[in-house]
Amino acid sequence: MDNLMYEKKNAYEVLASDELEKAKVFCEGYKQFLDYARTELYASEYAQKEAAARGYEPFEFGKKYSAGDKVYFTRSGKACVFVHVGEEGLEAGFNIAAAHIDCPRLDIKCNPLYEDGSLAYLDTHYYGGIVKYQWLTIPLMLCGAVYTRDGSKIDVRIGEDEGDPVFCITDLLPHLGKDIQSKTVDRAFNGEALNVLIGSAPDGEADKDKTKTAVMKILHTKYGITERDFQTAELSAVPAQKARDLGVDRSMILAFGQDDRSCAYPAFTALMDKKKVSKTAVCVLADREEVGSMGITGLRSSFMYDMLTDMCLSAGCNPRKAFGSSSALSADVSAAYDPAFAEVYELKNSAKLNCGPAICKFTGARGKSGSSEAGAEFMARLLADFDQNGVMYQLAELGKVDQGGGGTVAQFLTDRNIETVDIGVPILSMHAPYEAASKTDIYMLRRACDVFFA
Ligand code: MN
Ligand code: MN
Repeated sequence: MDNLMYEKKNAYEVLASDELEKAKVFCEGYKQFLDYARTELYASEYAQKEAAARGYEPFEFGKKYSAGDKVYFTRSGKACVFVHVGEEGLEAGFNIAAAHIDCPRLDIKCNPLYEDGSLAYLDTHYYGGIVKYQWLTIPLMLCGAVYTRDGSKIDVRIGEDEGDPVFCITDLLPHLGKDIQSKTVDRAFNGEALNVLIGSAPDGEADKDKTKTAVMKILHTKYGITERDFQTAELSAVPAQKARDLGVDRSMILAFGQDDRSCAYPAFTALMDKKKVSKTAVCVLADREEVGSMGITGLRSSFMYDMLTDMCLSAGCNPRKAFGSSSALSADVSAAYDPAFAEVYELKNSAKLNCGPAICKFTGARGKSGSSEAGAEFMARLLADFDQNGVMYQLAELGKVDQGGGGTVAQFLTDRNIETVDIGVPILSMHAPYEAASKTDIYMLRRACDVFFA
């Protein structure tokens, strides 16, 4: 009997060379997206521009939309929803691909600038689950926006171009590390000590805080801001290096923010390239996932549901019926099996690089706590579609049962009575300043989204 046994396949063993080539080409665009979209502000700006160029129009409440219409909605410039109305009408339900565009990073505090030992620093408050020591000594860039009280927005990006200065958090020399090296990792590094060095040259004319004054003068000259403007800024320190190919075979990508932009890019581009859809296709790029999705731009907020509900009502459809008939891919990364830490993985249920996006029936921790779970019947329909269209995928869990866990936006979609399953690119060194992912997996997620948006 054929196919009696199941064996996970590697893309390099089964894909034709032209398809492997397509994966490489697709990832060139992906790397450009990563380099620009360092925070959710820039990711959503990028997506809105691309959508507008493809005929998507700003959503209007109360307007009746019909088959073929393409609209987008942005919440506070950080989360966006893109909708392509399907031939079957809104009541047939939505096919929703949800990815997040925020990443673990160091946010600049509201009163950040200070001087110590004649050096000037910006004080930070980390965002999301970072491993603190990984952020020391690496080149950082500053990016984000300052909103001044006169109503203007000033974009700040320093440190990404070759000629730009960069910033860093210093670390202790090993020669003086006797005390710190005897501490456990969680005690040796504390969040309050993550201070970004931004200047050392004092201003001779200042009475006190000479280096801080000199730094503020430079920022004022370049951006027109004063120290008080930090109160209304959203600035982050993120890794400065651009996305690079990883490995002599160039099969992988090493870059900041692949959780979750390695899923956001395939989901978004799949929708953008659709000429026609039978079921209404939705791509939401959400913010705040790394801190639990709370907040107005997170998927616990009603921004997407309000938009879709309004579309239904304006078209004379029942939104409850539409949501109940919808399906969603919670497109978020998974942990890739790492041989260096084999003890935390259960190999046969771990995602391996180059075996396609990982489908997680549930996330959560311990006894499946804190997560939704996709129904097997729903999954059977989805996987049949993937199989028929040559989409590679693998079924996976994050790690060993009692080892830890994590969550995604899936549970917030199921809260709205939308059938949801997690699918995403397997990542090595997740949440590190530079995360690694394989090109074929990113490309296969794109193929999966192409099939999903039918
Ligand atoms: Mn994620
Ligand atoms: Mn994450």
